[in-house]
Formats: sequence, structure tokens, C-alpha cells
Amino acid sequence: MSDSDFDFSAIVQHAKDIVIVTKAHPLNDPGPEIVYVNEAFTEKTGYTAKEVIGKTPRILQRDGTNRDDLKKIRQALEKQEPVRVTLRNFSKKGNEYWVDLSILPLPDKTGKISHFAAIQRDITDYKKLEQDLQILCRTDPLTTAANRRAFNEIISQEFSRFKRSQKEYSLVMIDLDHFKSINDQHGHGAGDRVLIEVTERCKDNLRVHDIIARLGGEEFCILLPYTNLEQAHKVAERLRQKIEVMPIISDGNRIKVTVSVGISLVSEGDSDGHDAIERADKKLLEAKSMGRNRVCA
Ligand code: GH3
Ligand code: MG
Ligand code: MG
Repeated sequence: MSDSDFDFSAIVQHAKDIVIVTKAHPLNDPGPEIVYVNEAFTEKTGYTAKEVIGKTPRILQRDGTNRDDLKKIRQALEKQEPVRVTLRNFSKKGNEYWVDLSILPLPDKTGKISHFAAIQRDITDYKKLEQDLQILCRTDPLTTAANRRAFNEIISQEFSRFKRSQKEYSLVMIDLDHFKSINDQHGHGAGDRVLIEVTERCKDNLRVHDIIARLGGEEFCILLPYTNLEQAHKVAERLRQKIEVMPIISDGNRIKVTVSVGISLVSEGDSDGHDAIERADKKLLEAKSMGRNRVCA
């Protein structure tokens, strides 16, 4: 069968992937002019062919589009080479969608590149799943606090920042007092509720850039960026008091919850982020041995 036996343009027009054809020039503003879009384009973006012909694909990009990927496209177009990137685009209504984008330079009859064909596969669902998974593997499912793995990463970044810019940070290590007896007296379900409530109470009393993590059973650590020891002490004491008066009822009885807290400040002499964690841990043990329900610095 030869090419002329069927209509290629009908295949492109009805394909499920988005197809955009632009002129090869100008690469500078306002950008290459669109000469063709298929049905999938209109379905995804909300723009009709009439609305976009003569415009540039840049209408699909906003602040949320990754600059590095746009640069990669730009460099390939300048060299008139094919390129493939994952890109975040925006529909006419402003809804974001993700595409796996391949751009193919198209030569005219003389062999000169006259157009580019962009084929875009919608990967929004896949991207959403990837983002959900990333959150999932960094979050403690019971309390929604960060988990130990995420916290280790965060601390390591924060420690590097401290080394670079001397922006000090403090750590607040919290362990629930006699939590085993809470489980024994009120049941494991009530124990779980206590862990959730403690996390909530802490979050309610922290700033947006503070980060709480559940490091293990009933042990939490809070990162307080740009905070010295004195300020951290105030924060820890406030949290201790809020938790102490927390009204959690189980079978008509109020569950009394108290916490022991150790705090530490990152130091120039630390070899990595774990040194300050260890110091906060030591202070926490001190708080336990001094009778619990207190903050030690
Ligand atoms: P201390 O005052 O010395 O900290 O005593 P504690 O009882 O709080 O400490 P211990 O380490 O002896 O007990 C911790 C308990 O936490 C034991 C464990 O069953 C319970 N635990 C750990 N993870 C969970 C959880 O996810 N849910 C519940 N309900 N309990 C948990
Ligand atoms: Mg405990
Ligand atoms: Mg413990």
C-alpha cells in the first residue's frame, strides 16, 4: 500500500495524543507560530484550532512550568534536533496538566527545517500518582507527621544550609510519658488517638516552616529553623503545656498525657546533622530522669 491510499492527516487529527505543528521560526519572542493542532489538543487545553493558529505554544506555559525543561527545548530547537521532556502545561481555564513531550524537526522538500511537530502524551494521572507516592513514603500514616526517612533528609539539608550561611536551627525532641500505661489502661486505639492529637496540637502551635516528624512509636522531633536555644525553650514549654491540658476522653475518662522534652541547638563543631539530634536525645533522657513532664535544655 502506498502513502496516497489513505489520509495521514485524518490519523493525526483523531489521534489521542496532542499534536501541534509550528513554524520553525522565530525562536525568540513571540515564539514559533502554530500552524496546526489536532482534536486532542482542543480537548485537553480548551483552545480551539482557530484560537491558537498564529499564536505560540508559550500560551500553554505559566510560572509553574519548569525553566530548565524550557531551556532544554530551546537549545534543541536552536540546533534543530529532536528533544523529549516532561513538561507542566496549563489549559485555557488554568488547570495544570503534565505531558511527555517530543518535538521533531520537519524538513521541507529542499531539506531545510521549516516546521516543528510536537507530540504530547498526557501523563497527568501518572504524575499525580508519582507525587502521591512521594508524599506517602515521606509521611507517617497514623499522624501525617514526616517520617524518620524524610526527617533525616530534611536535617541533612538544614545542616548543610547552616554550614553555608550560619543560619542556626534548634531541635525539640519529645517523648510521651508512660505511654505504655495509656495503651494498657485505655487500649491501643485510644493510644493511637493520643499520638494523632499530640501531633495536631504541636502543628497548631508551630510556624509554617517548622517541621514535625514521628521518629518512632511515641517519639517526635521538631525542627525549628532560624531559632536559638532560648526561643526553642519557649516553644517547647508552650507545647508541653498545651499537651498537658489536652482534653482527650476515652470511655468517659480523660486521658492524662504529658511529655518529656529535650532541646538542642546546632553547633559549629558538629560533624553532621545527627550530633544535634543526639544532644536533644540526651536532654530528653535527663527530663525523664528528673521526673518527666518537663523541658531540659
Ligand atoms: P517513658 O515515660 O519512659 O517514655 O515510658 P513509655 O511507656 O512511654 O515508654 P516505652 O518505650 O516503655 O513504651 C512505649 C510504648 O509505645 C510501647 C508501645 O506499645 C507503644 N507504641 C509504639 N507505637 C505505637 C503506636 O503506633 N500506637 C500505639 N497505640 N502505641 C504505640
Ligand atoms: Mg515514652
Ligand atoms: Mg519512647
